[in-house]
Amino acid sequence: MSIASRIKEINSSLTGECRLVAVSKFQPIPLLKEAYDCGQRIFGESKVQELTEKESVLPQDIEWHFIGHLQTNKVKYIAPFISLIHSVDSLKLAIEIDRQAKKNNRVINCLLEVHIAKEESKQGFTPDEVKQLFLSNAFLDLKNINIIGLMGMATYTENNNLIRSEFKTLSTLFNDLKQSLAPQFSELSIGMSNDYKIAKEEGSTLVRIGTYIFGERDYGI
Ligand SMILES: *Cc1c(COP(=O)(O)O)cnc(C)c1O
Repeated sequence: MSIASRIKEINSSLTGECRLVAVSKFQPIPLLKEAYDCGQRIFGESKVQELTEKESVLPQDIEWHFIGHLQTNKVKYIAPFISLIHSVDSLKLAIEIDRQAKKNNRVINCLLEVHIAKEESKQGFTPDEVKQLFLSNAFLDLKNINIIGLMGMATYTENNNLIRSEFKTLSTLFNDLKQSLAPQFSELSIGMSNDYKIAKEEGSTLVRIGTYIFGERDYGI
């Protein structure tokens, strides 16, 4: 199947508030152009240098999302144009995004990454840490960063019950915070190639899909 037909298939299965982030990390520019030409406008990248290179040559109406681990010393390179940072995983990073957003005279939308998977390696806050953050003054003082929701990655497994229960944990936290400390919450970023159908059922508003659209990534490029 072509990129266009994959995107069409995914979009036709997404109902209501859920939108597709085409994860184009490690994919060459012609493939992004192909997705763009069939109407895709939101692209997700995970490396700062790769993102800035692609941003400089591709059309200006693309909404760029950052989905990978972001080092504080690299925030400045994406602050002028980034639409949404999915992966805020420390207060230190939030403070730096706020500082760079101020320099660029803008407010940057962000999501907090929450650790929901069994795997140790994945980044993110625990649900308790997220609640603590919303009660801390250092965090509430940040005026140029707008935290509009949460992001998480489920365990990489064939066990759909485990995946679903991890997504439920995050969607429950999302709804609790929306009703109490974070009424501005609008985005729940869950679901990748192998689990986006479950994520949709559990309330995802942004699915992040790479391999299913573009094929396997070539990490050698
Ligand atoms: C790479 C990546 C994706 C896309 O994964 P696929 O399995 O290729 O769909 C989604 N989210 C994050 C955070 C990623 O790093």
